[in-house]
Amino acid sequence: MTKDCIFCKIIAGEAPANFVYKDGDMVVFHNINPSAPIHVLMVPVEHIESVNSLEEKHGAVLSKIIIKAKEVAQSLGIRDSGYKLVVNVGTGGGQVIFHLHIHLIGGWEKA
Ligand code: 5GP
Ligand code: ZN
Repeated sequence: MTKDCIFCKIIAGEAPANFVYKDGDMVVFHNINPSAPIHVLMVPVEHIESVNSLEEKHGAVLSKIIIKAKEVAQSLGIRDSGYKLVVNVGTGGGQVIFHLHIHLIGGWEKA
């Protein structure tokens, strides 16, 4: 765990979160400040700072997260209505938490 990282603390159970999914590689929890009716964060367990820090070895967990998105969307009732997957990169790209995460956002219109 990386000291002072709120997402590492959530993953370690040292800070609260409303989890949708978790396993040994990744977790998904509701955004504390959602910008849409459904807004969850898909987060690798490993502390990777951002897309700018990605290496070849991270390929497996990244593809796992993206492949898992449809199941998460299904469980939240928005698979068929559609959703966005968004990654903010760096301060200028809107990234505030420097533990890589993919925003899964939707629910404006349920199918
Ligand atoms: P970023 O702007 O870094 O891509 O997105 C970070 C997101 O994490 C923001 O949308 C923010 O609302 C969310 N966030 C920040 N701190 C916490 C927290 O302690 N718990 C949860 N569940 N979400 C958080
Ligand atoms: Zn972290």
